[in-house]
Amino acid sequence: MVYVVPAKDVPSLQVVGTNARFPVHRIYCVGRNYGDHVAEMGNDPKKPPIFFSKPADAIVASGAQIPYPPQTNNFHHELELVVAIGTGGADIPMARALDHVYGYGIGVDLTRRDLQKAAKESGTPWDTAKGFDNSAPCGAISPVADDRHLLDTHIWLTVNDKVRQESQTSAMIYDVPETIAELSKLYTLVPGDLIFTGTPAGVGPLVPGDRIACGGDGLEGLAFSII
Ligand code: MN
Repeated sequence: MVYVVPAKDVPSLQVVGTNARFPVHRIYCVGRNYGDHVAEMGNDPKKPPIFFSKPADAIVASGAQIPYPPQTNNFHHELELVVAIGTGGADIPMARALDHVYGYGIGVDLTRRDLQKAAKESGTPWDTAKGFDNSAPCGAISPVADDRHLLDTHIWLTVNDKVRQESQTSAMIYDVPETIAELSKLYTLVPGDLIFTGTPAGVGPLVPGDRIACGGDGLEGLAFSII
């Protein structure tokens, strides 16, 4: 193929136990998927979770130094279990949904909270609040082994060694099968898609110099810093 401008490489993530990599196609995100976070944001607990997305090249691997992004004074971390899709499909039934999962990682949905608040108030899109450069740090993907899925795993995030967020993934409002079923009503999922499954309570601001670490049972760790 000859392109008229340089074509970017496919973004990808390391995979535990192999040198082959997971190619990132799309990054879908679930909003308002933990009741304690819905409450801390003052949102209606009776409304179902929502979906949004980030560009695939927002992915950042563990070990990165992430520049504090422009156009914000309230840059937040959101700790999330990440589902890596291995088999695609549309209208995937909940009962078959886990068959579509290649593996799991731990990620952070970095958010310009002030731009998100302004977007909510004016009813305008969330893209600039959520889908900016370097907004999706994600650890290496752990392939599903022996049909063990991380439906009730402990996840945690520290900033400068202090715990800011921790939860069991069983506290999700849409669990992983329901998330896949609902998302695949809206989009045809394809191998390489990632789903950031929403954040528990404890989101908060990051500033230059902060060191972030996160992980979970059955997951590879993720660490990065803000410069
Ligand atoms: Mn989020």
